[in-house]
Amino acid sequence: MPQPSLKVNEIFYSIQGEGPHTGMPAVFLRLAGCSMGCVFCDTRYAFSDGQLMPLTDIVQAMEKYPCRNAVITGGEPTEQDFAPLAALLKQRGWCLHMESNGAHDADVSNIDFLVISPKKYVSRQMLQKAHTIKIVVGQETDLQDLQNYFQYANERTAVCLQPQSNLQENIDLCVKLIKQNPFLRLSLQTHKMANIK
Ligand code: SF4
Repeated sequence: MPQPSLKVNEIFYSIQGEGPHTGMPAVFLRLAGCSMGCVFCDTRYAFSDGQLMPLTDIVQAMEKYPCRNAVITGGEPTEQDFAPLAALLKQRGWCLHMESNGAHDADVSNIDFLVISPKKYVSRQMLQKAHTIKIVVGQETDLQDLQNYFQYANERTAVCLQPQSNLQENIDLCVKLIKQNPFLRLSLQTHKMANIK
């Protein structure tokens, strides 16, 4: 029987640049594919480029780095059956972070820290499971819609606004909204600002 596999776009070792774990070293596993089609997407190269890798090869590639924090991202990781890999990595002592658009209600029982970044549509169940809801905010953002996410902010779940494309006008808008709603948090893409590879 063939080994379970996932289509992988890239595996690399870097620093988490955004969200509540900014500054954390991590091995990034970028799974291929996403059907959401956001116009501002900065990982379009992950839509189709990638190779099918058996789970054991993925683990081997990740474990060549001296770090056991993983960020499973995409593309959209929940468009593939990542749960067996998550279970395998957990058994091997990894701390698992996942970044998802939350469109599909997925089994995240082995994920230690779930970031949901809602786009055109999102599952309510995934919002409830999130440790962080990270919303990309730009000049086109519907501020009425944005407020629907505010109810999820609590001691366990942070709701962060992330300025689209790091543009100053979007940073200014996020800062204004956070000052008006002080339970919100700012997430900046520091890896882009600092050119961290
Ligand atoms: S959901 Fe994320 S990965 Fe998918 S198209 Fe939108 S920004 Fe890109």
